[in-house]
Amino acid sequence: MEQDRGTVPFWLDIERPGFGTLEQPIRVDVAIIGAGIVGLKLARVLARHGARVAILEGARVGEGASGRNQGTINRGPSPGYGALVRRHGRGTARRLWQLGDENHRLIRGQIAEYAIACDYQRDGMISLVRSDLPEWQAHAAACRAEYELLREDGFAVSWLDDQAVGQITAAPAGTYACGMIDHSDGQFHSGRYVIGLAQGIARIPGVALFEGVRVRAVRRSAGVTRLDTDRHPVDAPLVVLGTNALVPQVVPGLERSMRAERGQVIVTAPLATRPCRGSFGTSLAWWREIDDGGGRWRLLFGGGRERDEPDSLFPQFDAQGGPHQALERDGFAASAAHQRRLDLQLATLFPELAGVPITHRWGGLQSFTADGLPLVGCLDADRQIYGVVALCGRGNCHSDVAAEHLGARLCGVDGPAYADLFDDLCAPDRASARWPAWRSAYSQAPVGDDGRARP
Ligand SMILES: Cc1cc2nc3c(=O)[nH]c(=O)nc-3n(C[C@H](O)[C@H](O)[C@H](O)COP(=O)(O)OP(=O)(O)OC[C@H]3O[C@@H](n4cnc5c(N)ncnc54)[C@H](O)[C@@H]3O)c2cc1C
Repeated sequence: MEQDRGTVPFWLDIERPGFGTLEQPIRVDVAIIGAGIVGLKLARVLARHGARVAILEGARVGEGASGRNQGTINRGPSPGYGALVRRHGRGTARRLWQLGDENHRLIRGQIAEYAIACDYQRDGMISLVRSDLPEWQAHAAACRAEYELLREDGFAVSWLDDQAVGQITAAPAGTYACGMIDHSDGQFHSGRYVIGLAQGIARIPGVALFEGVRVRAVRRSAGVTRLDTDRHPVDAPLVVLGTNALVPQVVPGLERSMRAERGQVIVTAPLATRPCRGSFGTSLAWWREIDDGGGRWRLLFGGGRERDEPDSLFPQFDAQGGPHQALERDGFAASAAHQRRLDLQLATLFPELAGVPITHRWGGLQSFTADGLPLVGCLDADRQIYGVVALCGRGNCHSDVAAEHLGARLCGVDGPAYADLFDDLCAPDRASARWPAWRSAYSQAPVGDDGRARP
C-alpha cells in the first residue's frame, strides 16, 4: 500500500519535556499502560484515592491519538442525540449529554489546576449538511430532528438555515443546505494540553510516569500480574489499559469490539485571516482554526473518508495470530491516497485557500465500537486487567468521567452519580459493541469471526 510517512503532528511540533524511563524493576498498586489522556487521567484519580501507580508509555507522552486529533471538546458521544434517544430512550440520552458537560467541566478544572497554557476556548461545534452530496435531504431532515430534540431537552443549540450557513463558511454558495451549532463545545491545543496534564500529574505523590517503556506481555501468577517490558518488569495486583487502538494486542478477545480506524489530518501554513471560528463537521470533512499567535491563523482539516473505507481500517492480527505489521507501521502514518482525498475536500470547501502551503500531514489511530460508546471496566478478569478504551473519536467527551468511575470502582470508594450509565451502557462484554466482519485493504481479506485476518 502506497504510504507517505507525513510529518510530525502539528500538536506535537513543539518543545516537549522528557519524563524519564524505568531504571529498575518496580512493584506498584496499579500499573497503567499508555500516557495519552486516558492513562494520565486514570493515574490522577487512582492516586487521589490513595493508590501508588506507575504509568508506562512505550513512546512519548501524547504520541498516540491524544496528540493527533482535532482538539475539540464535544459533549455529545459519536452516535448523535437522535440515535441515542431511539436506542436508549430520552432520559438516558439526556444524561449521556450531561455526562459530556461534566467531562468538559473536569477538563477546565485540570487546565486551571495545572495552569496549562493550551489556548482553551469555547467557540462551539457546527455540524453542517452538504447539499453537493447524494441523499442530502435525508441528512438535513435528520439534522433538524436532532436540533429539535436537543432544544426541547434544554441544550444550547442554534439552527442555521441556508442563508446563515453561507455567512459562517467561505464555501461556494449552495455547498451547504443547513446546520446546527452546539454552543457548549470547546477547543484546545491538544499537544500542550496532554503534555501540561502529564507535567501536573507526574508531580502527584504516588504517581510515577515513565516514557520509552513498551509493555510486551502481561501475565498473572500468585495474585500478581507481571508486565514484561523492554526495560524492566513491573508487578502490580491491578493493570489498567489506556492503550486505545492497540488494546487487542494485550486482550485479543476484544478485537471484534474495537475496530482500529485511522484518521488523517492536514494543517495549513499561517494565514493572515481567521479561516473559521470554532470546530466544524460535515460529510467527508471536519476542521477548525488554530490561533498561531501574532494575529495569524492556521486551518486544521481532517476527514476524507467514509466510515467503512478499507484503507482506513486495520486488522490487529495476521493470519498466524501475530500482531499485524501494518497496524503500527501505517496506522500513525499519512497515506498518499487518503491525503489526496483530503486535499480534494479542502479545495472543494475552502477554494480561497488554493495554493496555501500545507505544513503538517499526519495519521492517527483511534478505536470504535459498533454502537459508538466506549468500553469501560474489566477487560480480562483472569489477569485483572481493566481499562477505558474504544473512545470512538470522543476522548474529550468521556475520558475524565470514565476515569472517575473506574478509579473509584478499583479503589473500592463511592463512585460518581453517573456510575450506572457506565455499568449499563459501556460494559466491555456487551454484544452491541461487536462489529460484523469488516474488510481491510491491509489484510486484503475480511477479518473473520475470530478476529483474524483471513489468508
Ligand atoms: C484524527 C483524529 C481526530 C480526533 N478528534 C477528536 C476530537 O476532536 N475530540 C475528541 O474528543 N477526540 C478526538 N479523537 C479521539 C481522541 O484523540 C482519542 O479518543 C483519545 O486521544 C484517546 O486517548 P487514549 O489515552 O485512550 O489513547 P492514546 O492517546 O492513543 O494513547 C495511547 C498510548 O498508549 C501507548 N501504548 C500503546 N501500547 C503500548 C504498550 N504495549 N506499552 C506501552 N505503551 C503503549 C501509546 O504509545 C500511546 O501513547 C480523534 C482521534 C484522531 C486519531
